[in-house]
Parts: sequence; structure tokens; C-alpha cells
Amino acid sequence: MALGGLKDFNEITITDEAVALGAGLTNARLAAALAELPELRGLAQAAGRSANPAIRQVATLGGNLCATEFPAADLPPALLALEASVWLHRDGSGAAEELPLEDFLARRDQLLPGALVVAVSIPRTAQRSAHARLPQAGDALPVQIDLYEGAPSLGPLGAKGAGEIPILNVAAAVACAVANATGIRVQEIPLTPPRVLDPLCGEGEALDLGHMAQDWWGNVLAET
Ligand SMILES: Cc1cc2nc3c(=O)[nH]c(=O)nc-3n(C[C@H](O)[C@H](O)[C@H](O)COP(=O)(O)OP(=O)(O)OC[C@H]3O[C@@H](n4cnc5c(N)ncnc54)[C@H](O)[C@@H]3O)c2cc1C
Repeated sequence: MALGGLKDFNEITITDEAVALGAGLTNARLAAALAELPELRGLAQAAGRSANPAIRQVATLGGNLCATEFPAADLPPALLALEASVWLHRDGSGAAEELPLEDFLARRDQLLPGALVVAVSIPRTAQRSAHARLPQAGDALPVQIDLYEGAPSLGPLGAKGAGEIPILNVAAAVACAVANATGIRVQEIPLTPPRVLDPLCGEGEALDLGHMAQDWWGNVLAET
């Protein structure tokens, strides 16, 4: 059966009270059609940043809500924040029934066999929304590791860490962001309010890290 031929399955209906999205709409179409509605911008961004351009051309709203084996779907969180509801046609029943998205997601394993999501409805509000996509394992770049013997070390007997490296970078990156924003280098983590405020107010003692080279390169390569 070609679901795309169903009436309203690929339609967007916007009224003053609600936005109805047909379950057959692709992520690409949602991203383009909703970007100008401030309250739905978060959903447009979630759709527009999901997967990759080729997938976005074919992946559908209904598929994103019903693909139970894909737990990292981008649309459900954005739709939950918008208090969306799902219109569901169940076995042989004439009319579609409206369910809060939260209920649908909690029970979709039981609800879905033999049922069809036909649309998603979102109440209109004066609020604005935005979406931030956190990097996932699949977004990680390949890393090549080169080991340099003899580089300076803080550890006893010249020991170096390897496993900590991806963990340490997070706090360092946040500290660098604070330094960029304030012009002050805070050198101790966690970045508690006093540790940030003191140097901003010209208080507190600067850390003495005399054993480390100022130039980062000096800390990773042995002197020749
Ligand atoms: C390589 C790759 C990367 C991806 N990355 C992301 C990502 O970053 N973010 C993200 O959000 N998603 C991602 N996805 C998931 C993608 O966006 C789709 O949600 C998913 O692949 C489902 O595809 P589809 O919409 O074609 O649904 P289908 O494959 O057609 O259907 C999936 C399941 O849902 C059922 N179904 C579909 N529509 C309905 C309906 N209307 N009513 C009832 N049941 C229905 C089908 O029967 C099937 O069981 C990715 C997918 C791939 C292949």
C-alpha cells in the first residue's frame, strides 16, 4: 500500500490554534516548512540537523516516531517539548484517536502492531523554541594516536595518561570558553563561581605551573 497517497499524509495544516503535520512528511520538508514559525523552530532544527541530507529526503515523521529500534531519534524530544499529540488509526476503527505523544511513546510497542500514525498535532503558543544536538558516538571523528617518548610529564617516574585524554578535554574546553568570554584564564576545575569571580575581580593567587612550558608544543614533544 502506498501510504503517500493517503489524504493529509503529506500535508502541513497551520491554524491559529494548532499545527497539524502529516506523518508522511520528510525531515527535509519539515525543516524547510517550519523554520519561519518561532515556536516550531526547535522542531525545524531537529529535523534539519538529523542524519544526513540523503536520509532527510526520505525519513518521515511517522517513521521517526515508530522506528522503535532507533532510540536516538531527533524528533521525539523536540515534539515532547512542544506538547505534541499523535493521531493514531487502530485496527479497523473508523476514526483516528488522539494521544499525548508522551503516552504514545510509553506504549508504542503495544499500540503499533496493526496501527498507523496519520498525523501529529502541535498546539500553537507564543513561545519560541530551539534545538541543540549533542554529539553522539557516531559523530566522533577517527583519531590517530602517535606516541612520543620523553615528553615532559606531571606524573611520577614520567608516567603519562592515555585513557584520560578524552575526559580531560571536556573541562579544558569549557575553561577555554570561559577564558574567551572573560579574558581571564581560570586554571583550576571545577569552575566554581569563586574560581571564576576571584580572578575577574583581581583577587586570588595565580597558580604556579613553572614545570609546564607556556607553549603547548613544549609540553608534548621532547626537547632535542
Ligand atoms: C544512516 C541513518 C542515520 C540516521 N540518523 C538519524 C539521526 O541522526 N536522527 C534521527 O532522528 N534519525 C536518524 N535516522 C532515522 C531516520 O530519520 C528515520 O526515522 C528512520 O530511518 C525510519 O525511516 P522511515 O521514516 O523511512 O520509516 P520506515 O523505515 O518506513 O519505518 C520504520 C518503522 O516505523 C513504522 N512506521 C513508519 N511510519 C509509520 C506510521 N506512519 N505509522 C505506523 N508505523 C509507521 C514502519 O512500519 C517500520 O516498522 C537515521 C537513519 C539512518 C538509516
